[in-house]
Amino acid sequence: MDESGITRLVIVGGGTAGWITAAAFARLLGQRLAIELVESEAIGTVGVGEATIPQIIRLNTILGIDEHDFLRHTGGTFKLGIEFVDWGRKGTRYLHTFGETGLALGHVAFHHYWRRSLGQGTHHDPMSLWDYSLHQHAAAAARFGKLERVGNTALAGLAYAYHFDASRYAAYLRAYAEARGVVRTEGIVAAVEREGTSGDITAITLADGRRVAGDFFIDCTGFRALLLGEALGVGYEDWSRWLPCDRALAVPSERLPVLVPYTRAGAREAGWQWRIPLQHRTGNGLVYSSSFLADEAAAEMLLAGLDTPALGDPRPIRFTTGRRQAFWAHNCVGIGLASGFLEPLESTSIHLIQSHVSRLIQLFPGNRRSSAERDEYNRRCAAEFAQIRDFLILHYHQTAREDSEFWRYCRHMAVPDSLTHKLELFAASGRVGRDVDDLFREASWVQVMLGQGLMPRAHDPMADQISPGQLAEFLANLKTIITRAVAGLPAHEDYLARHCAADPASLAA
Ligand SMILES: Cc1cc2nc3c(=O)[nH]c(=O)nc-3n(C[C@H](O)[C@H](O)[C@H](O)COP(=O)(O)OP(=O)(O)OC[C@H]3O[C@@H](n4cnc5c(N)ncnc54)[C@H](O)[C@@H]3O)c2cc1C
Repeated sequence: MDESGITRLVIVGGGTAGWITAAAFARLLGQRLAIELVESEAIGTVGVGEATIPQIIRLNTILGIDEHDFLRHTGGTFKLGIEFVDWGRKGTRYLHTFGETGLALGHVAFHHYWRRSLGQGTHHDPMSLWDYSLHQHAAAAARFGKLERVGNTALAGLAYAYHFDASRYAAYLRAYAEARGVVRTEGIVAAVEREGTSGDITAITLADGRRVAGDFFIDCTGFRALLLGEALGVGYEDWSRWLPCDRALAVPSERLPVLVPYTRAGAREAGWQWRIPLQHRTGNGLVYSSSFLADEAAAEMLLAGLDTPALGDPRPIRFTTGRRQAFWAHNCVGIGLASGFLEPLESTSIHLIQSHVSRLIQLFPGNRRSSAERDEYNRRCAAEFAQIRDFLILHYHQTAREDSEFWRYCRHMAVPDSLTHKLELFAASGRVGRDVDDLFREASWVQVMLGQGLMPRAHDPMADQISPGQLAEFLANLKTIITRAVAGLPAHEDYLARHCAADPASLAA
């Protein structure tokens, strides 16, 4: 290669990570780089990853993807949040929505006014917060529509993400990337060549002897991490002491009779079960800890918990929650499962792919010898992983459940200081000590902390600035406005049928 520049980019792996990476690089750096993607049909992809968060809309915008076209091709649906069932204690449920709850007044978040309205006692219904959530009402009524703002009020409209068929999504992005010049090579990687002095990767060799040379490599080989982990020897930081689930069983089932616009995550004896509504089927899976539940019992539990008949046998997946000690080493970056894994409780993995790709493009080095960009990239990815990790731990740890060994472990385990601090601050004052660049908004932390049963002892004193009469009127008006707005939305099912009904030909292909 030319010492001063990087002109040949090799992406290894063609799952969701590989094709998002290829699509984004082709779109933003395609004039400068020759991009080749190597994947093996014989090895296949992890084949899950069907629920997302609203940041994916930004990816679609950058790529210029039409939302309705993409949902038609992937059998997709809209998502307003995640319903958590039986987490804080058995019999409870709450929706972690993508929207705000109520309306902030001045500099004071809505939940402080709501907390004030409950008085100073300790036994209050935390679920009454959701009476003021547009998303909650729309989700409960299975309604969805494009709503940027509620009427002429200051209330924000519906923030949303998508559910889609994972294999269709990768195929959709593949078509996009190939149309923009990405060259796909089919083959199994057998060896990785490195330069003697620098240790940089120079080429990969395929099982049939072909050699693919490059200046910069992106490892999207999934849990195997063939380049970053195996060839470069970058170790793995194991977080399973805080997030002990290490296995999943995935199974599709028939389509739900009513397509609800949210993911469901139901807590189980030693983990949790997901339900993702798609237009042509339902995605389901049980995430569990093998230290607390046997595989056979897990399979029975998954099948017994389905809402519609199974369309196959449960497929096992093993993982260790944690991350690579470095995300970028030498001239190689790991993206997707090759970079680490945070379990799918908050649907963050596809977001991490997108966020890593965009960070890498922003920091893409002009010169292979430069290490400043690499250090910055590693620093920011590490912080992002740790922030999401803490948010996930919150769901397991902040619970009153003591009904199984697994839940007793989670409830009493030591958690990172960064999370302890947030829990203590919220319990004392209702304030959220989130980092400025935290992926999860204040409203997310509030909903999950309250939903898990952590009621703050006090509210922000600035919420006392309005009179009791004004407070009561404010809350009553909000309820009326929200109920009216939801009544005006179409059924989710009708919206899909009208704008993005799945294309049967592409789903059958
Ligand atoms: C149980 C579970 C549920 C999940 N749910 C969600 C969710 O709801 N939302 C979300 O955002 N994320 C979810 N994820 C994560 C999501 O599935 C992944 O982030 C996403 O699919 C990206 O995977 P990947 O492309 O990194 O790896 P993979 O899909 O495993 O792809 C690896 C690629 O590398 C290739 N490869 C490997 N070895 C070789 C070799 N030797 N030679 C050539 N090619 C090779 C394979 O052929 C394949 O193309 C979930 C993950 C799990 C485990």
